[in-house]
Amino acid sequence: MSKKKEIDDRFKKFGTVSFTSVTKVNDFIDFLEKGKVMGTRCQDCGKVFFPPRADCYHCLSRNVEWFEVSGKGKLVSYSKLKYAPVGFEGDLPYSIALVDYGDYKIFGRLAGDIPDDEVKLGMEMKTVVNKLPNGQLNYVFEKV
Ligand SMILES: [Zn+2]
Repeated sequence: MSKKKEIDDRFKKFGTVSFTSVTKVNDFIDFLEKGKVMGTRCQDCGKVFFPPRADCYHCLSRNVEWFEVSGKGKLVSYSKLKYAPVGFEGDLPYSIALVDYGDYKIFGRLAGDIPDDEVKLGMEMKTVVNKLPNGQLNYVFEKV
């Protein structure tokens, strides 16, 4: 008798190029499909993780819970890319950005429909799920 091994490959649906195929935090993709961008928080020391982690590197606890990234953050850094990593060339031009939510920061992309001259450091942004033309999912920052 042989037992078929199931590969958990939900992360394949994330982004233009999947960055990992097997991970403990695949629920992240299920949440994206429901329109939610989620991080994890350690229930023992309170440390917050984005991208989500299944265990806490700070206190080594595995006692982490999901929370939804909601509300407004502030744009603290951004950069318009002229050259993209392998696999992302077709997405150019786009801007990578860092949005500060207070007790955590999120790295991602600015929504493609924000005119360059409206992007300002300190502006309020929200993180939303985005469906790519090829059907893959990611998240982007939109103006509030
Ligand atoms: Zn912890």
